[in-house]
Amino acid sequence: MQSTLSRRIAALEPSATLTMAAKAKELKASGRKVISLSLGEPDFNTPQHICDAAVKAMQEGKTRYTVASGIPELKQAVCKFYQARHGLEYKPENITVSNGAKHCLHNVFTVLIDEGEEVIIPAPYWVSYAELVKLAGGVPVIVETRQEDDFKLTPEAFRAACTPKTKALLLCSPSNPTGSMYSGEELGALADVAIEKDLWVIADEIYENLVYSGHKFVSFPTVRPELMDRTIIINGVSKTYAMTGWRIGWTFAPAAVAKKMASLQSQETSNPCSISQYAAMAALESSQECVEQMRAEFEKRRDYVASRIAAIDGLSCGNMYGAFYAFVNIQPHLGREYGGKMIETDTDWCLELLEKKGVATVMGSAFGAPGYARLSFANSMEELKDAFDLIEEFLK
Ligand code: PMP
Ligand code: GLU
Repeated sequence: MQSTLSRRIAALEPSATLTMAAKAKELKASGRKVISLSLGEPDFNTPQHICDAAVKAMQEGKTRYTVASGIPELKQAVCKFYQARHGLEYKPENITVSNGAKHCLHNVFTVLIDEGEEVIIPAPYWVSYAELVKLAGGVPVIVETRQEDDFKLTPEAFRAACTPKTKALLLCSPSNPTGSMYSGEELGALADVAIEKDLWVIADEIYENLVYSGHKFVSFPTVRPELMDRTIIINGVSKTYAMTGWRIGWTFAPAAVAKKMASLQSQETSNPCSISQYAAMAALESSQECVEQMRAEFEKRRDYVASRIAAIDGLSCGNMYGAFYAFVNIQPHLGREYGGKMIETDTDWCLELLEKKGVATVMGSAFGAPGYARLSFANSMEELKDAFDLIEEFLK
């Protein structure tokens, strides 16, 4: 019999973040007390004025198909926001609005990558990157970074990974899963290699508003004038405005690329939800005070989580400049027994922590970094406190 599944789909792994979150939910449903530090999603509700804009859109009948790549008013609002924030001169023809940033990434790889072309991805990387590149027929080339360098790719390592088949570099700053963030100078050094090697850069900037301790976020294409023509920025409302369920993300791309993404979307999904698009517009056009409130709350949690990690023997992590994750080095606690059971790998450690103590995390291997565990601090202080008390008990 012929094989049922296509080669690309047969090789596809499920998302580890969503799998661990589902496991935590399952355990909770069975009556166990579970604290989930697995899924990276703000625990806040979407601010009221954004919900009100959605209700108004529904009442005004904005409930029909829109232009497949998004309503012109939202594209305009996105351009205005970026112009004010980063001084970047994008036009609506550069914007594609999609069903969340994950969908944006799928579009970008499908439009840019030919069979066998390579995309350089620094590890630790967000779980979906490598799988989405493979799904588009590309080859993810994983380049390891070091905790001592705050998990940042160096220009030397970038250059060494380039081959004649390299098509793009994929950068995530601030980073999921490490919370690391590149300075303008560091981005400039990477940009010089990308320009010299004639590569695309896909800059996932979805955590740009969640930055701590007064550090300054720098948007990739601002560091060299030549970058606008070779950069694709990924962004959206999911993290900044606590709008994960609304499914709105967007890309900034050169017009020719954006046009093809619009064609792809017109065939594949049509427009992202019309009501969510109006809500996203309200998010960008109204006061940003709600963003600052949530950011400040995340910063307190980041400080708390950093202090708890530092206080536990054998745990460590890099500097967390942004996003809401701690990427914890658990290597000193592997290769030993827990309640008589030998635990060798980060995957077993995370599963055992969930099973024994009801704390859900995500194994570093899913992010291309065995020996680590990712903890999301998008949880209340009470939950974080309880979770760390349980982790301490577990390690004893
Ligand atoms: N990029 C990164 C780095 C992320 O952490 C996420 C997580 N949601 C996404 C993209 C996808 O975002 P969305 O929910 O808008 O699809
Ligand atoms: N980005 C979040 C995370 O890394 C949400 C889950 C997902 O989209 O995979 O946990």
